[in-house]
Parts: sequence; C-alpha cells; structure tokens
Amino acid sequence: MSNLKDKVAIVTGGSRGIGRAIVLMLAQNGCHVAFSYQKSEKAALDLVAEAKKLGVKCMASKVDVRDFVKVKAWVEEAREKMGHLDILVNNAGIIMDKALMLMEPRDWQDVIDTNLTGVFNVTRACIVGFLKQKSGDVINISSVSGVFGLPRQVNYSASKGGVNAFTKALAKEVAAYGIRVNAIAPGFIDTDILSGLADEQKDKILAVVPLGRLGTSQEVAGCVRFLLSENARYITGQIIQVDGGLAIR
Ligand code: NDP
Repeated sequence: MSNLKDKVAIVTGGSRGIGRAIVLMLAQNGCHVAFSYQKSEKAALDLVAEAKKLGVKCMASKVDVRDFVKVKAWVEEAREKMGHLDILVNNAGIIMDKALMLMEPRDWQDVIDTNLTGVFNVTRACIVGFLKQKSGDVINISSVSGVFGLPRQVNYSASKGGVNAFTKALAKEVAAYGIRVNAIAPGFIDTDILSGLADEQKDKILAVVPLGRLGTSQEVAGCVRFLLSENARYITGQIIQVDGGLAIR
C-alpha cells in the first residue's frame, strides 16, 4: 500500500503545469489534496473532478499566495475540511524575464512576492500544525536559475536562490520535530511558463541540456514522489536538480 494513502497535502498553483502533475500523482497514491490557483478556475475544477475519480478528497481554492491573510484562512479551512495536514508543496511561481536595465520595480516585486514571499506565507501558515503534530513534509519547487543564475532572470534567480536558502535554514530549524524540508530545482520543463519562448530560444536551450530534451511535469512530480517515500526519510535540506544534466559543472 502507498505510504501516502489517506495523508493530506496542500499544493500551491495546482491548476496547471508541474503543480497539476503533482496533484494527480498525489491523488494516484491515495493522498487527499487541497490546492490553490489564481486565475485558471475551469482547469482547477476539472482537476478536482479528475482527482475525485481516483477516490480521494480534493478541493481547489482561488488564493493568491502573495496574500498572507487569505493564505492563512485557506490553510485553516483545508485543515478543517480534510481533518489534518501532512504535506506542503510550494509550487506556485511566475517569471517576468528581462534585462536588468529594463526591469521595472513591479517586475522585481511581483516575482519576489509570488515566488519567495508566497513560500513564506504558506509555510508559515502550515508550520505550527506540523510542529504540534511533530511531523510534516515541505517540498519547495525552486529552479536551477536559483542555483547558478540565468541572464534576464535576476528577479527570478534571486527569488529561487532565496527559496533554496529558506529550504536549508528551515530544514535545520525543524528537523528535531520530525519535519523534513527539501527543494526540487527543475531545469527546463515543458509547461505554459515556457510558452513565450520562440523556437530559436528553445533550440538554444536544448543545445545546453545534456539529455537533449525538455523535461516533463510528470518527471518533476516523480521526484516529489521520491522525496515523500520511505526511501527518502533521511533526506532533508537538499536542493535536488531535475534538469537533464543542465547544471552539471
Ligand atoms: P505554470 O505557469 O504552468 O503554472 C503556474 C501555476 O502557479 C499555476 O497553477 C498558477 O495559477 C499558479 N500561480 C501563479 N501565480 C500565483 C499566485 N500569485 N497565487 C497562486 N497561484 C499562482 O508554471 P510551471 O508549472 O512551469 O511552474 C511551476 C513551478 O515550477 C514554479 O514555481 C516555477 O518557477 C517552477 N519551475 C518551472 C520550470 C519550467 O521550466 N517550467 C523550471 C524551473 C522551475 P493559475 O493557473 O490560476 O494562473
């Protein structure tokens, strides 16, 4: 039987892409899921129906991860409706790529608020319950951009570098309470976030990926599955790259 059976997970940004694949992976393993979205209501409701068909409880809530007060209310509602919380996957994220000389304060702030402050907001809302129950798993979806930096992404690289440091600091802080905190740093994954790229840019990306292709959302969800498995019980504070070898140095 899956070790995730009848556990409960909170996932941010579950409506599309990597988050959607994570919600489905959890549901396939018998884990009940409460996920958030921002704009994609139809996709979110379709996903709830698909997850429920797999025999688990699933709820979708329109919650902006930037809003501390609304996030807190959402986490409390999820805990009440689902009975308990065991897993948090901080997945919601955005890009606003441009050269620093053209970057407006808004481009900087939106990316930091969503990708970094969002992780603080949701983790802050979940952590007290995890500490009380002396168990919990936090997985942050970071990026290789936060590991080695990418041009035209100083806002994004800074936000994900922050997530990586957050992951390590919190892992040390809560390890004594049986809580593990890890991050996954995907490389280039085939989701809507890359849809703005021209074919020429995609070709340039593929040229530097040793495995020679984009990754899939399911491959990132597979790493989440591993981190939540019994095989990963001694792993905490790690930033695991799922990137086709992109970050090999
Ligand atoms: P998508 O753009 O496909 O999906 C983003 C998800 O985040 C959507 O569900 C979206 O909701 C949600 N979201 C965005 N902003 C907010 C917000 N303020 N509050 C709540 N939810 C929000 O992205 P990916 O699936 O590609 O990315 C998922 C994560 O993986 C991100 O953290 C990203 O940085 C990271 N990543 C992705 C890579 C890639 O190549 N794809 C590479 C490295 C990291 P809605 O649908 O309602 O808009």
